[in-house]
Amino acid sequence: MQNNWRLPLLRAYYWATLPARRRRLRTWAADGIAPITILFYHRVHEDRATPWTTHPRAFRRQIAWLLDHADLVSLQEAQTRLQRGNFSCRPTVAITFDDGYEDNLASALPLLIQHAVPCTYFVTAENVLRGLPFEHDRAYGVSPRPHTAAHIRDLAASGVEIGSHAWSHRDFGALDADTTRREFIDSRRALEDIISAPITRFAFPFGRPENAPPHAIALARECGYGAVCTAYGGYNVPPCDGFVLRRFHGDDPWIRMANRVTVDTRLLDVPWGVAAAAMACDANRGIPPAISQARSPSPAATSDALALSHVAATPLEVANPTSNRPSEWDAAVP
Ligand SMILES: [Zn+2]
Repeated sequence: MQNNWRLPLLRAYYWATLPARRRRLRTWAADGIAPITILFYHRVHEDRATPWTTHPRAFRRQIAWLLDHADLVSLQEAQTRLQRGNFSCRPTVAITFDDGYEDNLASALPLLIQHAVPCTYFVTAENVLRGLPFEHDRAYGVSPRPHTAAHIRDLAASGVEIGSHAWSHRDFGALDADTTRREFIDSRRALEDIISAPITRFAFPFGRPENAPPHAIALARECGYGAVCTAYGGYNVPPCDGFVLRRFHGDDPWIRMANRVTVDTRLLDVPWGVAAAAMACDANRGIPPAISQARSPSPAATSDALALSHVAATPLEVANPTSNRPSEWDAAVP
């Protein structure tokens, strides 16, 4: 997922900026505008057969570090904090999975369940119900099995939240409105039949901006979903309504995960930091003024972020964090 020659540079950058990150997070937390990071994984297996397969050792290390250093929250709690403010001085992180690979039963899911780590598991309904391997794996010459319906039922009973990853894992940027609606509704019904409980969240297959166009996001809301997830990176900054949730991919290197969850300012939408991001969020998403006033960023938060703006110019992990150009997005994954 990432050129490995960059990792030593990223490691040096991370340790050099960590004290400033901790100070900044405390300032943001005091104002309730601490960003929330959502990670998504696909498959955890030793073979690392595809770019979206994470090694079990790397996954264990990431979860162990997060248990020690972060608030691990459910997507429901992440949405609540986005609406009411996030006052935690620790990195706030939610864990999700996409697709629905049986291999995750071997180590990843038992680890999360054992440590009571909240997890939302986005499943493609057709693959589960018909036992179909995923097309995107075939290009790598592998066909890992999807879960069975019984697996999904057991996971839900174990406290894992099940979400929809569409009926047929298609690019929603290429679907007409009727097909989009059917994908939303059919997948939800099928998964609700399996777990006998409501399905309230959706993750767009492929998840790039072009795969999650505004009309599809609006249709998801119209169809009754309470949140949709994208998959091209980015932080979630309160206050906002938390309907569209941005996610980073959980790649193998620990340093990439640690760098992201402690908030790398270069990955914020605006170069001068989270304070302005929060204001942009208010303006763009129609947040009630009461919330905006209660959570408006302090001058200290703004000046602290400004003081660090020189760091944002260092092109280590992203080419240009000051615009929404594809160069700053995560690598494409299904
Ligand atoms: Zn997918």
